[in-house]
Amino acid sequence: MRTIVIVGGGAAGFQVAIGLGRSLGRRQLARVVLVDRSPTHLWKPLLHQVAAGSMEPAAHHTSFALQAERNHFQFVRGSLVSVDRARRVISVAASDKADVADADLQAIAYDTLILAIGGVTEYFGVPGAREHALTLDCVSSAERVRDRLHAALRRKSNPESSTGRASKVRVAIVGAGATGIQLAAQLRRTSRLLNRYGVHQLDPVHDVDIAVLEAAPSILPGLDSEVAARVTRQLAKQHIRVATGQRVTAVTPDGLKLHGNAQRDADIVVWAAGIAAQPQVSTLGLEVNQKGQARVGDTLQCLGDENVFAIGDCASCRPTNATRELPTRAQVAYQQALYLADAIPRHLAGRPVRPFVYRDYGSLISLAGGGAVGSLATMRGKLGWYVEGRLAVLLHHAIYRRHVLAINGWRRALLVSLSHGLERWLSAGTRLY
Ligand SMILES: Cc1cc2nc3c(=O)[nH]c(=O)nc-3n(C[C@H](O)[C@H](O)[C@H](O)COP(=O)(O)OP(=O)(O)OC[C@H]3O[C@@H](n4cnc5c(N)ncnc54)[C@H](O)[C@@H]3O)c2cc1C
Repeated sequence: MRTIVIVGGGAAGFQVAIGLGRSLGRRQLARVVLVDRSPTHLWKPLLHQVAAGSMEPAAHHTSFALQAERNHFQFVRGSLVSVDRARRVISVAASDKADVADADLQAIAYDTLILAIGGVTEYFGVPGAREHALTLDCVSSAERVRDRLHAALRRKSNPESSTGRASKVRVAIVGAGATGIQLAAQLRRTSRLLNRYGVHQLDPVHDVDIAVLEAAPSILPGLDSEVAARVTRQLAKQHIRVATGQRVTAVTPDGLKLHGNAQRDADIVVWAAGIAAQPQVSTLGLEVNQKGQARVGDTLQCLGDENVFAIGDCASCRPTNATRELPTRAQVAYQQALYLADAIPRHLAGRPVRPFVYRDYGSLISLAGGGAVGSLATMRGKLGWYVEGRLAVLLHHAIYRRHVLAINGWRRALLVSLSHGLERWLSAGTRLY
């Protein structure tokens, strides 16, 4: 029996594991193995809500082991260390530490390997960024943002503090892509709610300065300019300062340095300026692009190795119907996962496999208290249907609900969504401690 190993159970890998488990694993046509360094899955586009304390990750985690049992695949917890492509064996470390002893390594043989290990923050070599800035790479890094914000709000609103008077909390977010913008809006909502519940006594707008700095001439690079204009207006209403054309040259313990040597003080710096592939991808001898993403062909197989596929943020993919490489987005990861869940069984059955085609359904930016803004594709596939307000919020929620549905099936998805709704209704809307 063939063994299909998927490494990485994020937006892309988890979906493929479930799809292949249901089609091949259930009928014992192949052994499907999912490897992830974490025991649970959390949909990454929720991380800015975790960072703002508006979402309790525990309520949204899904256990890989549980889903493996339900969907006929096997789950191995471990971190990918190396791939021996000649022998078709991967090495997985039981721990996430860099210096793993050989004894901790587990070898897993594969016939087909699917790399879906996602991306990491790209610092572009900016001095101090790695050391002093926070990121939204994973749940624990998002929780660090939340904890730092709480600590800063409490410290600055305490008259007993070193200055003897309340002072401003300054948050600087580097990068005005979807991640940075959505985080800024969530943090504004949190500063208001924490004030309402008496967690801090600062003016939630004027004493909590939230700024987004972007090197490009406009926000949301790569997205529709009309969406960017609408988002800019909403951010202004929420008193979030956006500065474009601002290149950050260094991050210090007290803030940032900008091109021209201007200094900007900040209590919290969040780096959301770019994504590169996980460093392991570049060590596998595969062809990679500048961001270290594995280059794939029409059928998402890595160039030079037809037994290895790459999808999601760790892949560099330019389908025949696209004019440039696809962006690192959940929408891309999802479509690639659906494609492989269909193409691999076809390939094994000797049926023809069509090339991967990407369809851009548009983008939606969630602005917390300010609703959501987005553009959707028309029936002809052209972007240009703009949505805002309640409809946009509903559509934004629907994207996550679709993910919950894909993992759980109809009945369980309904119950899970009900429990999420109840949790939201019963809670304060943000973590208060
Ligand atoms: C705050 C935030 C908001 C976002 N909002 C949006 C949005 O609104 N719309 C949108 O389209 N996209 C959004 N994105 C981007 C989107 O989340 C990613 O493009 C998508 O998650 C990529 O999916 P992936 O499966 O490639 O990687 P991931 O979802 O990152 O999953 C990677 C998986 O690999 C595992 N892994 C990593 N390294 C190893 C290893 N060495 N060994 C074993 N396992 C490993 C990880 O534990 C993880 O489970 C957002 C991202 C962030 C951070």
